Amino acid sequence: MNLKELSEAVGISGDEGAVRAVVLDAVRAHADDVRVDTMGNVLAFKRGTGRDRLRVMLAAHMDEIGLMVLGYDADGFLKVQAVGGIDPRLLPGTLFLVGPERVPGVIGLKPVHLLEEGEDEKVLQIEDLVVDIGAKSKDEAKKLAPLGAYAAFATQFRQMGPDTVSGKAFDDRAGCAVLVELLRGERFRFDLHAAFTVQEEVGLRGAEVAAYAIEPDCAFALEGTVADDVPKEKDASPTTQLGKGPAITVMDHSFISDRRLLRLLTSTAEELSIPYQFKQPGIGGTDAGAIHRSRAGVPSVTVAVPCRYIHSPVALLSLKDFDNTVRLMRESLARLTRRTLKVSE
Ligand SMILES: [Zn+2]
Repeated sequence: MNLKELSEAVGISGDEGAVRAVVLDAVRAHADDVRVDTMGNVLAFKRGTGRDRLRVMLAAHMDEIGLMVLGYDADGFLKVQAVGGIDPRLLPGTLFLVGPERVPGVIGLKPVHLLEEGEDEKVLQIEDLVVDIGAKSKDEAKKLAPLGAYAAFATQFRQMGPDTVSGKAFDDRAGCAVLVELLRGERFRFDLHAAFTVQEEVGLRGAEVAAYAIEPDCAFALEGTVADDVPKEKDASPTTQLGKGPAITVMDHSFISDRRLLRLLTSTAEELSIPYQFKQPGIGGTDAGAIHRSRAGVPSVTVAVPCRYIHSPVALLSLKDFDNTVRLMRESLARLTRRTLKVSE
């Protein structure tokens, strides 16, 4: 399992090269053909053992959220904009790696001693914040962090107790790691088309062209999704919970899961006593949102490893959930035939 390597690689939407290098290294020996398309998606093909050439697409996105340098002030501070969904409240005090040279930077905040009355209650916007890379002038800042440079969370991967790990970008490096594991295993009966996609966080862009090229009969999007099972005041049921198994999406903002694929997943889980949970419907979107509308339509479903604090500098996941996601996918795919998709609902 190479989640650590995948998590620590920097790959904000549009600049996924470092993650792509890790992925290519991990999958090359386990696929019959590997190529990189014009957008930067990694497409790995693994021939099936059966006579039926069913085309199954498994997608996981390589990109992560972050910041882009879009200006400077006279004193050498960087003005930035968000790439993907980012909550500005998380940014003050956060360490970043900026630009191709990975220059360390920090988003500072006025010390508490200097706050004026009411200032601590103001909600910060991204426009109010600057990244400090220690530059003393605009020219020095430009040299270290050219316009368009990306700033990524500088977070190391860590083990937290026996079953839990923390790190950045588990959305969706967890899905990438699951997909690598699936490629590493035995061949399936069908032809496996793995797509490690780019630019999901800015609108499912890589998956759209990958699905068009692959022309799959059905698709599974593999994700690291929200687990908001932390203490809260209201008695609201959480989206997903850590340690309760892979999260299957029934519906979100981007698509409605194919009911035949849902049944394949849940019946496999029940037959083998693999824990699973449903992601509470209605929020977020995944690559399945783009894939299911490709060409004449693709039956699709999303399966995710629950992760606490996604889209923040540090996320947490349970290694048991990770292993159960790989197992549920492997066993469900082993049962997938053309008949699964013929049954009408
Ligand atoms: Zn994601």
